[in-house]
Order: sequence, then structure tokens, then C-alpha cells
Amino acid sequence: MAAQVETTLRGPESYALARRVLEAMEAAEVWPTPVNFELWLYYLSEPEGDLGREIQRLLASKEPISEATADMLAAEYLPRGRLTEEIRDAGRVLDRELTSVAEAISEAHSSNVAFGATLAEASANIESADDPEQLKVLVTGLTAATHQVQAENTSLEQRLDSSTREVARLREHLELVRRDAMTDALTNLANRKAFDIQLEAATEAAEAKATPLALAVLDIDHFKRFNDTWGHQTGDQVLRYVASVLARVSAEPRFAARYGGEEFALIFPAEKTTAVFAALECIRKEIRSRALRRRSTNDDLGAVTISIGFAERRPGETAVSLLERADAALYESKRGGRDMTTRGRDPQQAAA
Ligand code: GH3
Ligand code: MG
Ligand code: MG
Repeated sequence: MAAQVETTLRGPESYALARRVLEAMEAAEVWPTPVNFELWLYYLSEPEGDLGREIQRLLASKEPISEATADMLAAEYLPRGRLTEEIRDAGRVLDRELTSVAEAISEAHSSNVAFGATLAEASANIESADDPEQLKVLVTGLTAATHQVQAENTSLEQRLDSSTREVARLREHLELVRRDAMTDALTNLANRKAFDIQLEAATEAAEAKATPLALAVLDIDHFKRFNDTWGHQTGDQVLRYVASVLARVSAEPRFAARYGGEEFALIFPAEKTTAVFAALECIRKEIRSRALRRRSTNDDLGAVTISIGFAERRPGETAVSLLERADAALYESKRGGRDMTTRGRDPQQAAA
């Protein structure tokens, strides 16, 4: 549940949680440094998790939580810590491979220089050589030097080969880490971070090419009530269901993300209003049409509905403003009775 913190922090419980965190830190007499705050945030969200139990153990032992201890806990247990650790490891491997390649190149270079000198010397000597014995010595020397240079070049090739393989492995691994950091673990959709990046990019592209761009936000109706009735796990099952519907209709260039909690977002680059509206209505109707069943008990959960707001970008409009207008449209759908799609008003009207 620790991953939940990210969404809770942008939800209705965020301030209450932040206050509880401060109180708990004060009671435990730890300073509210950013690291401690983050640790306590995860701790209180999941007191029985690994981090929670470790902090409880430290507190019970009356050991002071020093800066070093906090850093260690953060590196070990916080998601960001794990990510930096991966990147640090990757850096180390890359460093090692680059050093090895640089050494090999430098060795090969010196032996090639030496070989050049041997050749130059030999050619001078050949001109002045007049007896076969002398020539034989020269040729033997040249053969040995050639072999040595060949051996060194082979070794360089092998080292380059192995480094290339190692770096390719590393690249694959980093790609996995990167994808992980951009994916919501519960639904496998893009997460909010990925969404923010994508929306910025889509906004820039729309501005540069003067193409349309629409943004929709979708929010499950009365989800709190649903959670309260059926429990969080069943709630999670519904989130996955909604995400699966979104994933199905958002082939490129569309882009679907879990924006937070029970809220999703869809980016529509280069599509007309009618197409965007039709796609959103299709999603809304499909979600409400399915009679959901609780996996564990087969209880009939009824249907869930979603409310949708969307806005189309005006020339020059920023991503933030577009998002605000889509949000305002979502709010209108909620006010209008939920289970509906509302198109956002123009920026001037929205501001009025
Ligand atoms: P509205 O129709 O106005 O949107 O009402 P609502 O109850 O859906 O909205 P509200 O924002 O009051 O509550 C959202 C709920 O979503 C509260 C929270 O418990 C739940 N929620 C947020 N994230 C998750 C999650 O990851 N899993 C589950 N199961 N529930 C979540
Ligand atoms: Mg809701
Ligand atoms: Mg909501």
C-alpha cells in the first residue's frame, strides 16, 4: 500500500495525513527534515510494512534517528531511494566498462607506435644488410613484433566485444527501470509523472504544428462509497477494470494515464471534437454497461459510472490551462448529475 501514498498526497486526505505525520514526528522527537518527513509519510501510510516495522524497532530501542540513519532508511525503503540506487549501480558499471575500453585502446596505441618504430628501424637495416644471417635476424625480429601486435589487437577486440555486450545489457536494464518509474503499478497505465511529460510534449507539438489537441479527465463516480461498501481491494479491482477499458481505446497517438486515485486522463493529439467526444462517450457507456462481480465472493457489485470532462487546446494555451479547463468540465459533469461527458468552455468564458 506504500505506493498509495503518491495518490493520497493529491487526494482529499492529503492534509490530514500531513498533519498526522507532523504530530507523530514531534511525538517521536525527530526533526521535520524533508527526508524524515518522507519516511514518516510512508511509515504512517503503512505502519506494518517493512519501513514501518524498522522505524518502530528503532523508536522502541530509543536509538536516536540521526541524519545518517534517516538517509540509510531512505535509500533502503523509499521508492526514490531504490531508483537512485539503480542509477548509481548503472553508473558504476558504465564507468568500469569505459575505463577498461580506454585502457585497452591506450595499450593498443602504444604497441602500434612501437611496431611502427620497429618497422622503420627494420627497413633502414634491410637496406644496409648484406649477409643472409643478418637478414634472418631482421625477419625473425619483425615476425615476433607482428605477432605481438596481432595478439594485442585480438585482446582489444575481445575487450570491446565484452564491453559492448555489457553496455547493451545495462541499456536494457535502465529501460526497464525507466518504464517502471513511469508506470502505475496497480493499473499498468502510465502514471502521473509520465502523463505530465506527455502532456507537455503534446502541447509543444500542437503549438509547433498548429494541430488540434484535446485532453480528457475521467473520474469514477461515488468511488468512496464503493470502497466503503465493498472494501479497498474490490475498489482496486474496479480501478483495474476502468484502466483496461481506457488502455483498449487509447492506441497511439492517444495516451491514457492514471492521474491519481480514481482519476484518469486521456490525451488526444490531432483529433476532431466529434471524434474525441464519440470516443469518450464510448468509454463512458462501456464502463457503465458492465455488471461487475466481486472476484472473491462473486457478489453482484452493480455497475460503476464515470464522469468525464474534456477541453480542446486553443492556440497559445499552456498545458496547465488546458488541464484546468478539462477539470472544470469534469466538475460540471459531476454537478450535472454524474455519468456524463462535458466539453470545456473557452478560456475567456472559463475565466469569467
Ligand atoms: P465523486 O463522484 O464526486 O468523484 O465522489 P468520489 O467518492 O468518487 O470522490 P472522492 O474524491 O470523495 O473519493 C475518492 C475515493 O477514491 C477516496 C479513496 O478512498 C478512493 N481511492 C483513491 N485511490 C484509491 C486506490 O488506489 N484504491 C482504492 N480502492 N481506492 C482509492
Ligand atoms: Mg470520484
Ligand atoms: Mg476524484
